[in-house]
Amino acid sequence: ADGATVPALVIGSGYGGSVAALRLAEAGVDVHMIEMGKAWDTPGPDGKIFANTTSPDVRSYWLRTRTKQPISNFLGFPLDKNVPRHTGILDAEEFGGIIVYQGRGVGGGSLVNGGMAVTPRRENFGAVLPTVDAGEMYGTYYPRANAGLGVATIDPDWFETAECYQYARVGRKHAQRSGFGFVFVPDVYDWDYMEKEQAGTVPKSALAGEILYGNNHGKNSLQQTYLARARATGRVTVSPLHRATSVIPAAGGGYTVTIDRIDTEGTTTTTKSVTADKVFFAAGSVGTSKLLVALKATGALPRLNGEIGKGWGDNGNVMCGRANHMWDATGKLQSSIPTAGIDNWAAGGAFAEVAPLPTGIETYASFYLSITKNPHRAEFTWNAAAQRAELNWQTAWKQPSIDAAKTIFDRINAKEGTIYRTDLFGTYKIWGDHLTYHPLGGAVLGKATDNYGRLQGYSGLYVIDGALIPGNTSVNPFVTIAALAERNIDKIIATDL
Ligand code: FAD
Repeated sequence: ADGATVPALVIGSGYGGSVAALRLAEAGVDVHMIEMGKAWDTPGPDGKIFANTTSPDVRSYWLRTRTKQPISNFLGFPLDKNVPRHTGILDAEEFGGIIVYQGRGVGGGSLVNGGMAVTPRRENFGAVLPTVDAGEMYGTYYPRANAGLGVATIDPDWFETAECYQYARVGRKHAQRSGFGFVFVPDVYDWDYMEKEQAGTVPKSALAGEILYGNNHGKNSLQQTYLARARATGRVTVSPLHRATSVIPAAGGGYTVTIDRIDTEGTTTTTKSVTADKVFFAAGSVGTSKLLVALKATGALPRLNGEIGKGWGDNGNVMCGRANHMWDATGKLQSSIPTAGIDNWAAGGAFAEVAPLPTGIETYASFYLSITKNPHRAEFTWNAAAQRAELNWQTAWKQPSIDAAKTIFDRINAKEGTIYRTDLFGTYKIWGDHLTYHPLGGAVLGKATDNYGRLQGYSGLYVIDGALIPGNTSVNPFVTIAALAERNIDKIIATDL
């Protein structure tokens, strides 16, 4: 309510925010979470909460009037279409040189993502978070996050026979024939449920191609894990369709947070202010960075240091497709949840997921999302004239990622006598170099904050999301975001409450 006072306010309900809310509540602290997206707990007119990937609708995009599908074309046909403007689940946020895809709603990115839950190899961790004790992370916090998220690996016997993973077995065969390391990618999807989908005994989600706009069954998003446990403490309240716009020191201590209540067309209906002893920025790498650069530049929080907005990276995301021979059919039925990875990080700086193309027809295509070692880092700055934060990423900065991905796919193409697909991202375009799903950084640990996420210059203000991680995790990021949040909140509860 307007004018209320709360002990802890969490801005954003993704991984960082959900971990913080649960652990604070367990420590006896009342927590209020605000989330600018919808609750995603009510079925639409079709009886389903979430829209299907093949038929995006009003629910699919955040305040756009036309869809912005990551794969924009297929066999020469553009796929995008007009939709009514709505607080939909997937934000395709456009900056100058990159589109940053993000989840919007209670559960943040966990609503839209593929659930791939990968812990980085320990030998790579020093490059991911150089100031963090790896022994503690691998001994305590990665296991805690994996358990809390419900991470599991596919039954390898079932993998060998499941129709829906023919595409992944073809991906494995091609990787191994070229001498690359193959790994199973763990996931938060309920593998028993998926086996029942394949057997035809339950309603389908992964096998109905659901991904990007939410999964109606099977996936353990944060709504089913951390947030369910947080709510069960009785100490956590969540306000959807509430957007934080300002945080300033309050006269009597703590911070006053200004919050817009928005309707489902994105229009502000009321503005409230709440005072909190402690404020946790958990709006995601982009959301937290945008808020902090604005608050520093406009004089709300002038003592934030010069590292605010810096150290942002795209986790080296780049996509491509390959055209297989007719004897390497990838299957009409493809699980939307990837489970196969090609690890060429040490030699070539690339970790590639064998991704689905769940079109319902045989495409003879193999599709991949690569995570690569890309040295470029961008910065958010405040444009006072336009009253908005901008990001200076350049599309050309994807070249090191393309080069790294080519260490895998040029070799596979040479070995198999195959070529790249050129129809997925436009006309005669091989590389999907226009986007990231994995924004990281902008308020980097040990730079904009201390080594536990406490913002420099203000006690009681914390960053606890992907903004802390300096641009790359060498694998998919959410397990690392959750594990780092577990580590930091442990310290904050022990010393700051
Ligand atoms: P988020 O999860 O982004 O949560 C931030 C929340 O804050 C959002 O809900 C947002 O709406 C809200 N918010 C923002 N600004 C405000 C504000 N001002 N006021 C109130 N609320 C606000 N990662 C993996 O590890 N594996 C995968 O398989 C994977 N697949 C992906 C697929 C897609 C399509 C996408 C988009 C991402 C994927 N990711 C994946 C990335 C992963 O989802 C993100 O890294 C992760 O969600 C980031 O967690 P976070 O806590 O930093 O923030």
